[in-house]
Amino acid sequence: MRWNLRSWAGSAVMGMVILTACTPEKTPLEQPDATTAAAPAEPSYAMADFAKVRKFDAHVHANDRDTALLQQARADNFGLLSINVDYPDFPSLQDQHAIALAQAQQDPGRFYWATTFSMKGYGSEGWPGQVTAALDRDVADGARAVKVWKNIGMVEKDAQGRAIMLDDPGLSAVAEHVRALGVPLIAHQGEPYNCWLPLDKMTTNNDREYFAKHPQYHMYLHPEQPSHAQLMAVRDRFVAAHPQLRVVGAHMASLEYDVDVLAAFLDRFPQATVDLAARMSQVQYQSSADRRKVRDFFIRYQDRLLYGTDLTQSPGADPAQFKAETHAVWQSDWRYLATGESQRIEVLEADVAGLSLPRAVIDKVYYGNAAREFKL
Ligand SMILES: [Zn+2]
Repeated sequence: MRWNLRSWAGSAVMGMVILTACTPEKTPLEQPDATTAAAPAEPSYAMADFAKVRKFDAHVHANDRDTALLQQARADNFGLLSINVDYPDFPSLQDQHAIALAQAQQDPGRFYWATTFSMKGYGSEGWPGQVTAALDRDVADGARAVKVWKNIGMVEKDAQGRAIMLDDPGLSAVAEHVRALGVPLIAHQGEPYNCWLPLDKMTTNNDREYFAKHPQYHMYLHPEQPSHAQLMAVRDRFVAAHPQLRVVGAHMASLEYDVDVLAAFLDRFPQATVDLAARMSQVQYQSSADRRKVRDFFIRYQDRLLYGTDLTQSPGADPAQFKAETHAVWQSDWRYLATGESQRIEVLEADVAGLSLPRAVIDKVYYGNAAREFKL
């Protein structure tokens, strides 16, 4: 079975972030908000502060030599972490590597990148040595992290045809090598939870539409495949087995559906942080129901959250259009996280109030935590 990242909830498609759609039966936005009403005046930012505040997008994919993404980052005061991924619809790993080096050379104080490795040859005697040698070279060349993708657990098979899971003993040496190199491992280990639900139970319209059209990827229909809970359990065993390894859970550690569950993950694993890439609409879905709870989550875990989008500049994308889309995504997220302004979130078919997070929290989520994790 081949897996298609592109159309899956909130993944980047053709240089755009497709925000997750949903239609809550009732949107309780009219309720008075105790957080706003009663909170002592902790200063928050305004839209006018957007370009003034130093920010970092910890999850992008610059897959073209064109520098549109970098130019927009400069204009909007963002740094970037571009993550290389062993994903068949992306340029080859070799090309991604060359693009990352070229972009970093353009603006080394703004453009950072994460490397990855191929599972080709896994299980052979030479594989671990090849991978660790390549990681050594990449980190020497400036890579700030190593990415493992959901192909481990959902696609890759061993010689006996069994799925290779992240806690496979053969991956342990690589994990320990990443730890020794002093860089974090960015781990993406599952699909949005909706993938395992029947269509009528999914929270978002774009997931519903996608899985209706692509039943082969709809895990609810494939109980023989690992469940969401199994994938999470494997990931947790892996993280527990490498307590010194810093782990960045991509896409809210695949626990985007419930900030309480994500909080439990962060409590259990002090070495873990998570990025918010391509899951903001899931956060907005939850804050539409209970703004105070979601706001409190951000404040409580202000040292553990990394702003990220999954913006992907595909080869040949129109630079002007891509810059406009990038600016719009970054502004929308700022409006939501940093200010108290409401905005229409089309994919939710709802007006969503901003969280108006305190400035100190925004400074960490948007920059400080990334600077610490990736040694900017
Ligand atoms: Zn991504």
